[in-house]
Amino acid sequence: MNGLEITRNQVLQQMATACQNAGRDVAQVSLLAVSKTHPSDIVAKMYATGQRAFGENYLQEALDKIEALHELDIEWHFIGHVQRNKTKHLAAHFAWVHGVDRFVIAERLSNQRQATQAPLNICLQVNIDDQDSKDGCSPQDVADLVQHISQLPHVRLRGLMVIPAPHNHQAFTDAKTLFDAVKPQHANPQDWDTLSMGMSGDMPAAIAAGSTMVRVGTALFGARDYSQN
Ligand SMILES: *Cc1c(COP(=O)(O)O)cnc(C)c1O
Repeated sequence: MNGLEITRNQVLQQMATACQNAGRDVAQVSLLAVSKTHPSDIVAKMYATGQRAFGENYLQEALDKIEALHELDIEWHFIGHVQRNKTKHLAAHFAWVHGVDRFVIAERLSNQRQATQAPLNICLQVNIDDQDSKDGCSPQDVADLVQHISQLPHVRLRGLMVIPAPHNHQAFTDAKTLFDAVKPQHANPQDWDTLSMGMSGDMPAAIAAGSTMVRVGTALFGARDYSQN
């Protein structure tokens, strides 16, 4: 086994253990490999271990990798903050966008997604623990946003995404409570199936609280070196 196979197996094993401890089925939690700052040859090597879903934060870096790896069957997720002037590229090139926190952003993504493409999967980012510096809508606005965004034709609203402060495990439970509470507002409630939470440092706690998708970078690829960017 090469190094990436080893780290991926370790992460999958941690996920399985966390599911077992929580009495959850391991098939309910998927692994998003966060490949930001790692070059496309590393992504290709991770792909060779069987990984298909990859997450990126920086648009230009992501577009370069998407182009370089277009022959691979990768499901690309954008997990960075979504600015208005980026929506066109996101709608064209990604399968998922996790950082939607305003109606106008969802509306632009829906308008810019081609009808010939599958609907763009989106998650609503919520500032679940009221951090000053954080992106994300406020928890009080979620019900209304779900009601309106779920009616847009070319996006499929799948759930919530949160990035709580480190060690704030209560925030994961709060996110799960909110996730369940707003489901009736969704125009197509069967689409509401994704709770994107948990990273390298807090995966087990997020899974215990009900995460369905963990976003893991460091535990898979090692520490990031931002000086190379
Ligand atoms: C970078 C990043 C991750 C991965 O974090 P690690 O601690 O490296 O696992 C997950 N989610 C988001 C939104 C990120 O920006």
